[in-house]
Order: sequence, then structure tokens, then C-alpha cells
Amino acid sequence: MNKIASCINLPGGLLNRLSDIVGAAGLVTDPADMETYIAEQRGLFRGETPCVVQPATTPEVSQVVKACQDAGVAIVPQGGNTGLCGGAVASGEVILSLTRMSKIREVDPVNFTMTVDAGCVLANLQDVAEAHDRLFPLSLGAEGSCQIGGNLSTNAGGTAVIRYGNSRELTLGLEVVLPNGDIWDGLTGLRKNNTGYDLKHLFIGAEGTLGIITGAVVKLFPRPRVRSTAFIALRDLDDVLEVLGRARKASGDTVSGFELIPRICIDISIRHTEGNFEFLEGKHEWYALIEFESSEETLDLTSAMENFLASTYEEGLVVDATIAQSDSQREQFWFLREAMVLSQKPEGASIKNDVSVPISRVPQFIREANAAVAEIYPGTRPLAFGHVGDGNVHYNLSQPVGAEPQEFLDHWDEITGRVVAIALSMRGSFSAEHGIGKLKVHDLAAHKSPVELSMMRAIKTAFDPKGLMNPGKVL
Ligand SMILES: Cc1cc2nc3c(=O)[nH]c(=O)nc-3n(C[C@H](O)[C@H](O)[C@H](O)COP(=O)(O)OP(=O)(O)OC[C@H]3O[C@@H](n4cnc5c(N)ncnc54)[C@H](O)[C@@H]3O)c2cc1C
Repeated sequence: MNKIASCINLPGGLLNRLSDIVGAAGLVTDPADMETYIAEQRGLFRGETPCVVQPATTPEVSQVVKACQDAGVAIVPQGGNTGLCGGAVASGEVILSLTRMSKIREVDPVNFTMTVDAGCVLANLQDVAEAHDRLFPLSLGAEGSCQIGGNLSTNAGGTAVIRYGNSRELTLGLEVVLPNGDIWDGLTGLRKNNTGYDLKHLFIGAEGTLGIITGAVVKLFPRPRVRSTAFIALRDLDDVLEVLGRARKASGDTVSGFELIPRICIDISIRHTEGNFEFLEGKHEWYALIEFESSEETLDLTSAMENFLASTYEEGLVVDATIAQSDSQREQFWFLREAMVLSQKPEGASIKNDVSVPISRVPQFIREANAAVAEIYPGTRPLAFGHVGDGNVHYNLSQPVGAEPQEFLDHWDEITGRVVAIALSMRGSFSAEHGIGKLKVHDLAAHKSPVELSMMRAIKTAFDPKGLMNPGKVL
């Protein structure tokens, strides 16, 4: 069967025009081949598209966008399709996948920058930086398949925000194809450039609603040469901030990771992911994974970690701890941390919150939210874990054991409403890390002020007056 002829719902001639632009290698219309582009990470949505277009260059992206504009057809930009809010889910629009744009355009170790295609897989960028004796510090569970364009479009944070900042802080320049097809070349590697509005920030975190990121200049850092990683048990949740503060001081402010982990997350990771096991004897309510990291090889971070643990242990803040003795042991610690995300699924229905509060309010937030959830749906199991060093708590809730999944999920709005209200009462955010996508459009409308919403709508209208760039997302 002619694959192009099998494609439905596109105005006459558009498919042939797209095929002329990207060639046979860049057009997917076979439903079986489209599956990976329409399946959604968490099974919350089911995508639908007439075709997936995969341009190989920025001019091709521009031509595809122009062709779709001329035909009045909307586009959903897609990277690795790992996002957690349905931002890359199509509802009949053409999917524009950046997968074939995966070139490293330039590495400038002296300028500590790297210029890359938007479709580069995050883990590849980390490897290339390392090969040049540099560090690209963005790191997250989906790094083997998410793309830098998707990371920037969601302003992804990851595990090292405490030290290096979010994707926004890691970006110096962008190349973007605008909704009218124009190409904006903003690929600068400058650290200082005060020449009016800093346009790149409009596209970072815009989740593809203002244009398609096709290239980026990202910051590199000296490659860490010494590291010390510890897995600790805390006396109490309330001690976590004191322990973090002590860790920063004791390490010369080299803390690059600080992950809060509740007992239940260890249980489910061991239960559902092969290769995980207990690192400490005995069971405790709260744990943390702490990492110190430095490029200065004479710095003795192991001694710093030992001293920090000895003093916090003496004072009773830390009740047990183990320091990784090898890279593979360190990887084991992080493997357990990453396993927490996927190990929630086999535990049944799960209600997820991705909130942030000022770091100083994290323990209070968890306690108040736990109490509220217990009142709404007794037996609910809170999994409050995450990058406590940046105030981001993944406040996920697993259904009570033996409960009817749908009955639990029926309380989604009530539960997330209360959890978000608690975070907002502390001047927190209802979506700290994963964005808005399709999932949180109503939350955005409910929680942003009228002034913020009107500024956001004005920006959207200025860039995309016809509303053809990732419609139904964010706003
Ligand atoms: C296991 C796991 C762990 C995660 N951990 C973290 C974490 O620690 N921190 C964190 O912040 N996030 C985390 N995430 C979510 C994270 O935001 C995404 O995985 C990732 O940043 C998205 O990249 P992607 O290429 O998959 O984008 P996609 O999912 O394809 O797209 C995400 C959004 O960006 C848009 N988009 C994609 N590419 C482009 C482009 N080139 N131009 C314009 N718009 C584009 C899409 O339209 C969509 O709105 C995690 C996800 C998973 C599955």
C-alpha cells in the first residue's frame, strides 16, 4: 500500500509537499511506525496524528512549518516524548519530531560551550562534554531518550539544580523556527549581552507553544575529578534542612546532589526493580542521597564527607550512613533513586504532584500535605521524594493497598487541589519541574494572576496569531 495515500485528515497536497521537503526518510505515516510518537509516557493520554515529519536540518524545519501554516494545519513539536504532562501529545495535529537533528555543531572547550542540534539525546551531550574534559551537568532519569530541545522547552531541572541551576541557567543561545517559518539565529555563546529583551527565555519552558527550538548553545563546566557520595538515614524529617546546610558548609559548598527519600520509596524500588537492595541496616523513616563534587583533584571530599557525617552523627541528626567506595557503588545509589519513578506503577494507581516550596518550608509542606491526604482518602501512601536542595518535592501518592484504583483516582482533583493549595500558601509552585502541557492547563488558568495570564496570552498571540503551534498546551 502507498503509505502517503493512507494518510488521513490533511488538506490536499500537504502530504506531498511535506514529502518533497523531508524525503521518504523523514515522513512516517504507517500507524504501526507512529506508535512511539503517539504513545504517552504515563498512559494518561492517547495521541492521534495524520503523520510524523522528521526534518534533518533547520531550513527543512522552516519549510515544514511554512507548508503547515499555508495549509492551516497545526504542529506539535516533539523531542524524545518523555515529558510527563502530555505536552508532546498530538490531538490530530502533525507531529514534528526533531529526532533526525542530532549533530553536535561545535564544542568550544575554551569558551566552555557546546553548540548542538535540538534533537541530540541528553546522555550523548554528557558523553561529548566528557570527551572534551568538560561537564554538561543536566542529568535526569530520562536522559537516555529525552532530547536537549525537549529539556529546554520544559526547562528541565534534574538532579544537579542545587549546584548548576535549571536548563534555563545552562543556556546561552538558541536557534528557533518561529510559527510563521522564520528562522531566528540567536546562537550566541556570550555571557554578557544586554541588548534589550533576552528572547531565548521566551522559548525556554514554552513547551513548544511559541516556536520550534532547532539548536542551542549550552554551558559547559570543568569536569568533576573528585566526588564523594553518601547514603544516609535521618533522625527526623525536620532535620533534613539542617543536614543540607551542614553538608554545604562542610564540603566548601560543593554539594551537587541532595535527594530526600522516604522509606516507602526504598521498599518499592527493591520490590519492583531488579538489582536494588538495602544499603543500610535497619529501617528508617527518612533517608537522603548526598553528593559532593569538585574539579579540584587535590580536594579531599571523602574526608570532608566523613567529617560531616561524623559530626552530624554525633549530634544525632544522622542515624546511619554509608559512603560509596567505588563508582559502581555510587551508581547503585543513584540507580535506586531513579528506580523510584518507575517502581510506582506496579503499586497501582498513583496521583502525582510536582510542587515546589521555599527550601525552608519543605518539611512543613510534607507534614501538612500528608495530614490533608490522610483525611481525604485514608490509607493513601505518600511518596514525597526529590531534589530537596531546590525545594522541589515530587509529592506522589500511591493508592491504599487493596483499594479500587479508579475509586482512588476519582479523588484526584480533591487531593491535588488540597496539596497545591498548601504549596501555594507557602508561595510555592503547582508545577515545579514537569511543566504544564495538556495536564495542567486548568491549573495554570486557576493559579496565575489575571495580569500574568494576560501577559502570557499577549506573547502567544504575538508569536502565533493563528494558534497553530502546539495548540491546547500551556494556555
Ligand atoms: C524517568 C523520568 C525522569 C524525569 N526526571 C526529570 C527531572 O528530574 N527533572 C525534570 O525537569 N524533568 C524530568 N522529567 C521530565 C522531563 O521534562 C522530560 O523527560 C524531558 O525534559 C523532556 O524532553 P523530551 O525530549 O522527551 O521532550 P518531549 O516529551 O518530546 O516534549 C516535551 C515538551 O517540549 C516540547 N518540545 C520538545 N522538543 C521541542 C523542540 N525542539 N522545540 C520546541 N518544543 C519542543 C513538546 O512539544 C512538549 O511540549 C523526567 C521524565 C522521566 C520519564
